[in-house]
This record gives sequence, C-alpha cells and structure tokens, in this order.
Amino acid sequence: MTTAATGPNDATGPTELTDPRTGRTRGTAPLSREREVSAAVAAARAALPGWSGLTPKDRARRLERLAALIEEHAEQYAARERSGTGKPDSETAGEVEQVADLFRFYATAARARTAPASGHLVAGHESWVRWEPIGVVGVIVPWNYPLLMAAWRCAPALAAGNTVVAKPAETTPDSLGLLAEHAARALGEGVLQSVPGDRRTGRLLVESAVDMVAFTGSGRAGADVAARAGTRRVSLELGGNAPAIVLPDAPADTCAALAAAATYNAGQSCAAPARVITLAENYEATVAGLARALGSRLAGRDFGPLNNPDQAARYDRLVASSAAKRNLAAELAPDVDGERGHWRPARLLADLPHDDPAVTEEVFGPLLTVQRAEDEEAALALANSVPQALAASVWTTGLESGLELVARLNAGEVWLNCHLVQTAELPHGGRGTSGHGTDLSVLALHEYQRPKTVTVRRGRPLRTS
Ligand code: NAD
Repeated sequence: MTTAATGPNDATGPTELTDPRTGRTRGTAPLSREREVSAAVAAARAALPGWSGLTPKDRARRLERLAALIEEHAEQYAARERSGTGKPDSETAGEVEQVADLFRFYATAARARTAPASGHLVAGHESWVRWEPIGVVGVIVPWNYPLLMAAWRCAPALAAGNTVVAKPAETTPDSLGLLAEHAARALGEGVLQSVPGDRRTGRLLVESAVDMVAFTGSGRAGADVAARAGTRRVSLELGGNAPAIVLPDAPADTCAALAAAATYNAGQSCAAPARVITLAENYEATVAGLARALGSRLAGRDFGPLNNPDQAARYDRLVASSAAKRNLAAELAPDVDGERGHWRPARLLADLPHDDPAVTEEVFGPLLTVQRAEDEEAALALANSVPQALAASVWTTGLESGLELVARLNAGEVWLNCHLVQTAELPHGGRGTSGHGTDLSVLALHEYQRPKTVTVRRGRPLRTS
C-alpha cells in the first residue's frame, strides 16, 4: 500500500485538481476521511516497533535508499511538483535536489547524536539520557513547496525513529504521493504514508491517535490544530511577513537580489522578503531601484502563478484594500493564460501608511511594499511592528549597523546582504504568530524526540541474563 486513500470514499467524492497555469481541470485526487486516516495511523502504529527498533545505522541505510530513489526519479518528482504548482523547471529541479539532500543529511545526522550530560553526575550513580522517538507523527503541509515542506518535516521525524502519516494540501497531493510510494519500498510498509485530502482530513488526522502533530501552514489553521491537539506535542511553522531593512550604504545589487527573492515561487515563500524599510534619504532611490528590478521579473517567464483561486482572491483583496499611492505592476509574459490561470505580476506598493493591510498581513504573492523610517532605530521598530516573526534581512555595507540590527530583529532567521539562503545544516523556525517549531539542522531531530533519563545506582551488581 502506498497512499492510504485509494479512491472516492464518501459523499463528497474525490477532489478535483486544477492546473494553476490555466485554471483547467487536470485530474482528481482521493479525499481521505475517517476510515482512511484511521487505517493509515493504525498501519503507522504497527510499523513503529520495527522502524524505531532499527539501529541509527540501519535506519540511515534505508533513508539513503529513499534519497537515491528520489534522485533516480527526479524528473518524475519535478513533473508532479510542476503540475500542482505551475513552478518553472528552474525552481523545481533545485527543490527536488534539496529534498534528496535532506534525507541524506538526516540519515547521517541521527547517527551523530548531540551528547547530553552523562556519566558520574550524582555521587554513587551513573546516568545517561536516551533520546526516544515520540511515536506516530501526523504531518500536515501547505501547497507552496509541496515536496520540500513535506521533506522538512518527514526527514528528521523518520530519522529520529518515528513513523509518519502526512497530509498534503488539497491542491498539491502529487509529489507526496510518489514519495510515499518510494518510502514503502525503501523504508518499509506503513513507515511513511500519505493521506490526501482537505482541511477536514487535516482535522481528522489531528484528532486521530497520532502522538504528535507537525503542522506547516497559516496562523489561523495552526491555532485550530493547537486547540485540537490537547496535551500532545505540536510543532507549528506558520506564516511570515519578512522585513528587509535597506540602509543608504546597501550593496549595489540589493534591489535586484530583493526582487529575485520576492518573486521566487511567485512570492509564496513563508520567509520571502515582503516589507522593504528604508531611511528617508534612500527611500526614493530604493523605490526606483525596486521598480526597475521588479519590472524585469516576468510572471510566466521568471516565476509561476499563484497556487489556487482562494490565494489569488486573497492577494487581490489585499492589493485592492491598500492605500498605497504608488502601485506599480510589471507585465505578465505574453504567452500566459492571464484570464483563467492564477497569474499575478510582480508589484511594488509605495507611499503607504504603516498600518496598511499589505504591510500588516502576509500577502504571499510577488509583491514588495516600501516604507520610510526617520532613522535606524525607527526602521528597526517598523521591522518588529508586526505579529509575524519568522525571517528578516538587513542590507548595508556597514558591519557595525548590520550586526546591531541582526541582533535586535525579532525573527528566527536573519540574513545580512542576502535573503532566502537556506541549507540542511541551518535551523529555520519562527517566533510570535509565526509559530515555535524548528525545521532543518540537527536541532530538528529534537523536535521529534523526547529524552528519557536513566540513573543506575553503582556498587550493586546487575545480572546479565
Ligand atoms: P493552510 O493553513 O490553509 O493549509 C495548510 C495545510 O493545513 C493544508 O494541508 C490544509 O489542508 C491543512 N489545514 C487547513 N486547516 C486545517 C485545520 N484546521 N486542521 C488541520 N489541517 C488544516 O495554509 P496554506 O494557505 O496552504 O499555506 C500557506 C501558509 O503556510 C502561509 O501562511 C505560509 O507562510 C505558511 N508557511 C509557513 C512555513 C514556515 O516554515 N513557517 C513554511 C511554508 C508555509
């Protein structure tokens, strides 16, 4: 068995999938309900003793086999990812490579344990800590990076010895379905399963007998997940709204770099730059530079469409409600279906109040706002003025200002003169309404493990059998 739901299973029938590039139907996906979710969780529970009982070395071998399968089928993964998201090939190729790398990274990282205090810590006693898996982990992911966000959750959870039941977003079940097929071959039946479906499927998974929920998605859904999960462990990676403080001595390529990061994946990255903040003296130059740089980024040539009609409507509502006096939109590439596809051009909003909805809410599209601050202190206050606190960047050639701002920005990930640079070794996680989970790095292993302290009284012989 690969995917837990194998066909239409209740009155609402399968989910109709559409191509975000054209708005046309591209197929259907099963809609998992109580029966499928319970069966998947029971299968994960049955697979748990075998999987968690493997030595880290043997688990690593299987995870490396899964990474090899992803690499062997890279084109198939990329095609599935493209069908659900409309991303260009230039984006999907790198993302599939990152997914294989993540499984390899965690295969090895789980063998190199971070050493807790152990040994002779209490007089007459010997102590150590066992890091044990949590059990069956329910993973719920969004549509913006369907495969990569699943891998950020599944790779460390599996490497830590848990089994996983993962729910993709309703519009993008394709690549996680393939990963579950390959996982059944490489890791064993029941170790990683996919339950495609909608929000109700997600709720059913949270309310099922899983031992932990790892949720990546919007703040609203995250709060609902936390309320339903009760006392079980919940890891939340929620929405961002990243500031980019651009000082007058910023590097010459700052606007080009920000435009590229803001339009990568059509701006649908939780850590994407969203709010550019300048000082009064470099405001006009930055607006002009960003207008030029964004103007050269074409939807349909350089980046893909928004993912679905709801997201497009949300984006349109925020743009329409903005009081920005300058609203500059780039072109769409000539061959895109601008009528039916969910294409939105790169856009700049300037001369807008600090409490503008496009500033305070996460727009999640190829858009940058630009705000003006009187001095660095005011720029920092603006940067830290929204409830989301996931990522931020500072652009300056002044080391002292740069490091001072980096230290005082309220965010889990901060870049200096770059943005969206990430790798398996470095942790990613939010603060405030962006959640409190940790993805990536060896720290993410702890997200899916719990310590058990063992203390033995010395001087009392123990029988060996
Ligand atoms: P969403 O919250 O609507 O949906 C995310 C997933 O949760 C989907 O699979 C959905 O079906 C499911 N879901 C929705 N409501 C649920 C509920 N009440 N209970 C259980 N499951 C539920 O989010 P989205 O619109 O698909 O994704 C975009 C959001 O994800 C943005 O806010 C983005 O910033 C955020 N995100 C955050 C990170 C991070 O690392 N912090 C990474 C990627 C995306």
